[in-house]
Amino acid sequence: MTPPTAQAQDIDNTTATAQLLSQLGYLREEVTAESVSASVPSLHSAGFDSDTDGDGSLAGEQETENKEVDGQDEREAVQVQCVVRTRIPSEFGNATHSLLMYTNSEDDKEHLALVFGYAISGPGAIYSRTLEAVRENETSRDRAIRGATPLSTSTVPITAPELNFPTSNKDTAPLARIHSCCFTGETLGSLRCDCREQLVEAMKCMSVEGRGVVLYLIQEGRGIGLKEKLRAYNLIDQGYDTREANIQLGHPADARSYRIAAAILRDLNIPSVRLLTNNPHKINSMISDGVVVSERIPMIPASWTTGILPGLEDEGANAIGSKLQDRDGYLVAKVKKMGHILDIPSEILAGTSVARF
Ligand SMILES: [Zn+2]
Repeated sequence: MTPPTAQAQDIDNTTATAQLLSQLGYLREEVTAESVSASVPSLHSAGFDSDTDGDGSLAGEQETENKEVDGQDEREAVQVQCVVRTRIPSEFGNATHSLLMYTNSEDDKEHLALVFGYAISGPGAIYSRTLEAVRENETSRDRAIRGATPLSTSTVPITAPELNFPTSNKDTAPLARIHSCCFTGETLGSLRCDCREQLVEAMKCMSVEGRGVVLYLIQEGRGIGLKEKLRAYNLIDQGYDTREANIQLGHPADARSYRIAAAILRDLNIPSVRLLTNNPHKINSMISDGVVVSERIPMIPASWTTGILPGLEDEGANAIGSKLQDRDGYLVAKVKKMGHILDIPSEILAGTSVARF
């Protein structure tokens, strides 16, 4: 068996990432309190007004009033443990992928982290402290089966993990995507949402940069589960938008939590991230749990900038437009009703059914 490399890559290809993001229609954006709160006025009242460390990043321990989404201030910190890691060869670039599975103290779901550039030493190294920690009476085979680095090749002493964030270093902040699973979009290719496209583009960006982490959370349908999500789809077909449909079924508009994502970042020794997201609630949640979001990278549907939908390149604009009507209505609802930060092209607004939003 060839042990995984213990050498961290010297990351110097953010320019390549920027070029890819530009090609994909993505724009990099410095995260400031002003940029988020201006887009989401309600966040002014959610403690988003101050740049506490004066460096343009959103750091600090702001209280949030967004209990519906975050609601976490007075709860104990989530505990996570990485139980297995394995490499996943993938079509998305040549960078090493490591898939890590976690257990946690909050639920019995198998949340995941897809790590690009797993290494246990070197500047900005990404590795799991709970996976690599030496366990009592374990054998070399035990470590190999769970995917921990062999002790014989380890270059750092691995002891019981201290799951506090290290000192923040914005220069080494990796790309991160907090992604909630979507069976219909990612497995079935449903065009009711943009989940698959966002996941794929995030992986492409991380592969180009050679480092990053997708925090893949098992919370289908914005946390209401697959059955309820499918029921909500039928309400959407009756004219409700995605937010109203959840509420009609007795659920929160958004039942997701991102606390486990922050706990996994803590396990991965990642104090600050450049977050691929349009969702200010994810930024808010990271801040509440002590993660520095040094930059927000918007996720703009490729079809909005190029007129091409990945996988449907041979189809004409009219055909694509009709196929994307559901997805675009969903995106409009997320912007208008749920505070997502995304400029909607005027033709999308004009062409989307009023009844949907
Ligand atoms: Zn989806």
